[in-house]
Amino acid sequence: MAETGPKEPTVVPLKRHPCPMCGRPAVARFRPFCSRRCADLDLGHWLNEDYRVPSDEEFDPEEEPPEGGEEA
Ligand SMILES: [Zn+2]
Repeated sequence: MAETGPKEPTVVPLKRHPCPMCGRPAVARFRPFCSRRCADLDLGHWLNEDYRVPSDEEFDPEEEPPEGGEEA
């Protein structure tokens, strides 16, 4: 039986998604990001979004100041 020689193991190439933060090729260690910096950036975004609760009902009208020059 003669083997076909040193055959490279069939490696299924993982889909290399670009870093969602900067678009660079992602690194396995920091998937799906390219670096820890980008991972931290994304984490910050998540935390921020988690912090502020979207309130559609409780809208503060004082957010928009009335146009100046309004006489009583
Ligand atoms: Zn990145």
